[in-house]
Amino acid sequence: MRWKEQLLTLTPYQPGKTIGEVKRQYGLKDITKLASNENPFGCSKVVLEVLQKAAHFEKYPDGYATEFRFQLAKFLKVQPDQLIFGNGSDEIIQIISRALLDERYNTVMATPTFSQYKHNAIIDGAKSIREIPLIDGEHDLTAMLNAIDDKTNVVWLCSPNNPTGAYIPEDKLINFLNMVPKSTLVVLDEAYYEYVVAEDYYNSIELLKDYQNLIVLRTFSKIYGLASFRVGYGVSHPDVIRALEPARGPFNTNTLGQLVAANAIKDQAFVNSCRKANREGLQQYYDFCEENGLNYFPSQANFILIDFDREGNEVFQYLIERGYIVRSGNALGFPTSVRITVGSKEQNEGLIQLLKEYVSQIKAHS
Ligand SMILES: *Cc1c(COP(=O)(O)O)cnc(C)c1O
Repeated sequence: MRWKEQLLTLTPYQPGKTIGEVKRQYGLKDITKLASNENPFGCSKVVLEVLQKAAHFEKYPDGYATEFRFQLAKFLKVQPDQLIFGNGSDEIIQIISRALLDERYNTVMATPTFSQYKHNAIIDGAKSIREIPLIDGEHDLTAMLNAIDDKTNVVWLCSPNNPTGAYIPEDKLINFLNMVPKSTLVVLDEAYYEYVVAEDYYNSIELLKDYQNLIVLRTFSKIYGLASFRVGYGVSHPDVIRALEPARGPFNTNTLGQLVAANAIKDQAFVNSCRKANREGLQQYYDFCEENGLNYFPSQANFILIDFDREGNEVFQYLIERGYIVRSGNALGFPTSVRITVGSKEQNEGLIQLLKEYVSQIKAHS
């Protein structure tokens, strides 16, 4: 077989260690995983109730996700033909890349940002991948604009950005959208949209009316607490959706995923309470950072990137041996930081207690 050459340069996605593995390896009873931006409060009770009644597993899913599509369209106040569904928004990133990138066209993105934009662009053989460094954790939209030319088919924006948690303010985004060529698709990945509280955050769904080359990506994996069901969606102009649809697998979202997502949107009280608890959790980490003179990026998401001025892997190792799994910044483009998912109040307290001990040990030895 003659594999695509670019595949040889890539490694499969490295999932974090599972809780079971960590328990066995370190002989620990209790493990707290704050590494993958999952919701520490689980999901809505509404979801648990509908799952009890689900049946007919022998049938293929509805490939058009009709019921879910109509409910989500109503919820978002868009037309049903403005939606595309994916096996997680990860798959929509893949569909977009597959539909628009090959050796003729380049793509522009920030760095560090979510790894899958680049990963897919490489597989699809994009002509070049133009990575524009963040400034203070934020997208440098001016430099990104300068990197766009008539061969740029896709620009990726991640707001709030993973792994920094920084968002793009409304005025900057609108200015950017006004300047981008109409022939370039702007992907706005809003996986953490529901966590945002910033007042100058834009209304991306409203922006779709003015910018037909914009697609907004969202997911049920984060605040909705449904990561295992793999449901994400894209919202755009019907022409963009129609063009993307043939690149989507016919049964890419499954029956249970469609069912739980359609019901989860009914319980916005759950979403609101998670957003609120997340702000309180972030404040616990801000306070810890201020008290210990550590740099961090203010976050609009459910994670925080903290710079310990030490190897991120070392901090990671210290914590995992004591029962807390976080994400080392090493693989995320911030080698002296760790990314911590905001947990419940008690989980944050437990982790911060360990971090305090870690920081005081470093101080004692320096
Ligand atoms: C988590 C995440 C996704 C992927 O979520 P899915 O589980 O595939 O829906 C997409 N983009 C960003 C920035 C993320 O952090």
